[in-house]
Amino acid sequence: MTQTRKKVLGYGIDLVSFSEALCKVDDSIRDKSGMQIVTINPEMINQGHAIPEMDEILKNAEMILPDGVGIKIALKLKGINQERIAGIEFAKKIIELCAKNGYKIALFGAKQEVIEKTEENLLKEYPELKIVYTRNGYFSKEEEQQIKEDIKNAGPDVIFTALGAPKQEIFNKEMKQLLPGTVFIGIGGSFDVWSGMVQRAPEIWQKTGLEWLYRTLKEPQRFKRIFPTLPLFLIKVIIEVISEK
Ligand code: UDP
Repeated sequence: MTQTRKKVLGYGIDLVSFSEALCKVDDSIRDKSGMQIVTINPEMINQGHAIPEMDEILKNAEMILPDGVGIKIALKLKGINQERIAGIEFAKKIIELCAKNGYKIALFGAKQEVIEKTEENLLKEYPELKIVYTRNGYFSKEEEQQIKEDIKNAGPDVIFTALGAPKQEIFNKEMKQLLPGTVFIGIGGSFDVWSGMVQRAPEIWQKTGLEWLYRTLKEPQRFKRIFPTLPLFLIKVIIEVISEK
């Protein structure tokens, strides 16, 4: 796949527009080339530095999209004006694409009532959507093998995995070995939003790139995930930019 990537703290990030990225997903589904999509943020870059499996995933995933506002700022510090591609919006467009083209999808992750409501809402919005597998994201090591078998047998074109990072990325990477022609995307808390159980930030917070701040104010337990991650990340990027000069 020809694409422009820019490295931030060791990991290449695709410099693509939302619509270009969506076209690539469509191509991959059509020609069954398979791809793992990661919508990257500073926390995941930290995980890459700390967890060898995540490091490998971030170095090898076919598509790494700039999700977090921290990534947008990092690219800006490197002189690149890149639009932010919010994972939840991108995933929703893939759902729409699948509904329109009859592609089969699997929904995996979140709590039972969340995944049930998500399925119901998606089918209400896209009655033609072919959902071939749904399961909540709470399972034991023993159940994991069965889940993989079941997903394989269901044969989806796209798998939406919502287990939080890095669990969802690791699952997707392992699952891709069983279904190499499938598109995988890790989508964090998207089912919580699609189920209607969690509200996204009002548009003004989304547009200004401050959705993370809104979520942190609403769920203060997120505070320690953002701080000191974001400021430290930006300091490291500034040091990297200076050393590249
Ligand atoms: N989750 C899951 N299984 C787990 C841990 C988490 O299914 O073992 C789900 C959780 O219910 C939530 C999502 O994974 O729906 C993670 O959401 P979070 O808000 O942490 O992700 P983010 O969007 O911040 O990456």
